[in-house]
Amino acid sequence: MSSLELQSTEFALEVQGGRFVRVILDDSGSRVFDYAVPEGVEVARGCRVRVPVRRRTVLGTVLEVTTATEASGVRFVAEVLKSDAGVNPALLELAVWMADYYACPLENALRAVLPQVIRKLEMTHQERQAVRLVEMPADEILASLEKRAPLQLAALRALEAEPGLMAVADLAKRTDASHAVVRALEKKGWVAVESQRVDRDPTRHEQFIEAPALALNAEQEVVFHKVCEALVPRAPDAAAPKPFLLHGVTGSGKTEIYLQAIQRVLEQGRSAIMLVPEISLTPQTVERFKSRFAATQHEVAVLHSHLSEGERHDEWHRIRSGKARIVIGARSAVFAPVEKLGLIVVDEEHEPSYKQEESPRYHGRDIAVLRGFMERCAVLLGSATPSLESYHNVKLGKYDLLTIKTRVDDKKLPYIRIVDMRMESKKQSAIISSKLLTALQQRIERREQSILFLNRRGFSTSMLCEKCGNVCQCPNCSVSLTFHKAANRLVCHTCGYIALAPTKCPECKDPGIRQQGTGTERVEDVVQKLFPKAVVRRLDADVLQRKAAFRETLAEFRVGKIDILVGTQMIAKGLHFPNVTLVGIINADLGLHLPDFRAGERTFQLLTQVAGRAGRGDVEGEVFVQSFTPFSPAIQFSRHHDFEGFWEQEIDFRRQWNYPPFTHLVLLSIRSPHQGRGELSAQTLAKRIAEDAPPGLILSEATPAPLEKSHGQFRFHLMLRTKSVPRLSRYLRAILDKLPFPEDVTVTVDVDAYQLM
Ligand code: ADP
Ligand code: ZN
Repeated sequence: MSSLELQSTEFALEVQGGRFVRVILDDSGSRVFDYAVPEGVEVARGCRVRVPVRRRTVLGTVLEVTTATEASGVRFVAEVLKSDAGVNPALLELAVWMADYYACPLENALRAVLPQVIRKLEMTHQERQAVRLVEMPADEILASLEKRAPLQLAALRALEAEPGLMAVADLAKRTDASHAVVRALEKKGWVAVESQRVDRDPTRHEQFIEAPALALNAEQEVVFHKVCEALVPRAPDAAAPKPFLLHGVTGSGKTEIYLQAIQRVLEQGRSAIMLVPEISLTPQTVERFKSRFAATQHEVAVLHSHLSEGERHDEWHRIRSGKARIVIGARSAVFAPVEKLGLIVVDEEHEPSYKQEESPRYHGRDIAVLRGFMERCAVLLGSATPSLESYHNVKLGKYDLLTIKTRVDDKKLPYIRIVDMRMESKKQSAIISSKLLTALQQRIERREQSILFLNRRGFSTSMLCEKCGNVCQCPNCSVSLTFHKAANRLVCHTCGYIALAPTKCPECKDPGIRQQGTGTERVEDVVQKLFPKAVVRRLDADVLQRKAAFRETLAEFRVGKIDILVGTQMIAKGLHFPNVTLVGIINADLGLHLPDFRAGERTFQLLTQVAGRAGRGDVEGEVFVQSFTPFSPAIQFSRHHDFEGFWEQEIDFRRQWNYPPFTHLVLLSIRSPHQGRGELSAQTLAKRIAEDAPPGLILSEATPAPLEKSHGQFRFHLMLRTKSVPRLSRYLRAILDKLPFPEDVTVTVDVDAYQLM
């Protein structure tokens, strides 16, 4: 026995009858140890602590505080960190639930509920020197300063004019008074210098003009009234209000309802979280919130992936301390450490981007519903195209449905025309049908704006040799490389591999290699050639790489400097441009034939959302949907704005094949750089599960994933469907913990999977 261990045993004897904590160590695969708490030290569940492990100390999270331990050799906690840097109890509860449901290590779940910058103590608050007037010297002294030290006088006058603390830097800007001047004043006792905490506010350079609440129309009023009933604060033992699903067509004023409901919650002295998909967390969205709450702008915190570490740190602390009571953010903002939560809004609740694609693979909307239930607060899910899951929950009586059937001010929904591209394709360069061409021409003449949508970036989708049939493939993935014309490169959209575009076939050396298929870059190119005088711009992930380009292009589009905007799904969501009267969907079939049972649902949602960008101003909008399969239900129902119709036929299909929402889909993904080992592992796993599968489990065979190879890894799938997730998750974890897989094989569990490729 080492001397270290001996010492620890002695510790344990000393603290018998004291308090202990169960601590989960950071980055240690969820190992949990007991530690003793020194007398007089305060500690609670969720506290962050520093504890000894062998000869070092590491950070961890307190899972429980107890009065007994069965462990021997218990050592003391080295340090309990300040309570405002810990996980609050409600979020700890959520993390425990997530680990169980999503079959992931508790440590991963804890990492989701406390941002890394806070966990790792990587950041501190920013401080700056600030100065305050203590007393103004007598007049004769001031008079003498005028000649002797004019800068000192100027500084005093500036401080007198603006009582309170002023940053030394600000004072310097106003009066040229340097630090030396301030020090001189301090010495004489006229001013005091202290350090002041400053928040790194991502929107500090912007001014927001207050935008008052709008008078709700009759349909909005009904919805708002219902939501308000659920906002009445509840007794501690009362049940949680039922979540709402707000189904309102595009432009029906849903956001206005969110804003007013949040206002109500604030007036009650409580807080609200507003989730939006990352892609629609645009400056426009943030501005709308900041303007509505301009009078109390500091109460609005924004969380998104482009914040600097310092900004994230400060926003988190502003929320945690209760200074910011409205949180707007993408998926992970559902874990914002607000207390007295009154409302969680999930806008565009159907958006697949609410699902996190790495462990913990949680769904932001589902977590919002759960958190609402746990903290007994109202939850409002909104969409023009609700997910089948949520609509099903309405039918089951779990959610209350609220509907808005018309656009604000009775603006008409756009007129949608389907263009049968089979009739067009005989002609050359059939990217733009003749009908769409005429419509674009009209818009340019009338000085109205158009949007062209294609959910695929790049110039062409592949390069094909006409002689030998070779298609340029990514060496790491089973996908063809996309040609990007401006950069003259071939790019893999899966792993990012880049190669110079070849001038002849890499296989047979024939120069007849040509580009196939269409991406946004080609659409921009073709349209610009068709309308040389029009201003055509493009917005997709490639453009986004140039920082600020996104904002600039949107701003130019808004003021009418751009006639035609070409883009991917980046422009499909949430944007509101009154002068857009035409939307062209270049290829509606793109997502329709994917091997994914949600292909129809996604297409219906995307077409409806894109079409919703048209006709939001005074002129009625028009939409052209180009398709090679014009009679597919997703296209026909979206044409008639018929969500109910789409729902009826889609839900039948799901029921018949036992797909969600009738079951939960759990996808096991097995990856290895070695094809044979990957395949064998997948089959072994399938066999093992089949041996004693929980009752009611539908187990498919192990198959190569639709995307067979990615990032140099061969991929295999095993699809499970069940009615009871927690039981299956526990079962899977038990199996996976025991089954020995070869070292280069990775197995992941994705509960309620969305990404099936
Ligand atoms: P949605 O979120 O359903 O797409 P929005 O809330 O963005 O709809 O509303 C669309 C447009 O209508 C916005 O410009 C908004 O300012 C305006 N609007 C919303 N409600 C009203 C109202 N009651 N009166 C006047 N304009 C409104
Ligand atoms: Zn690749």
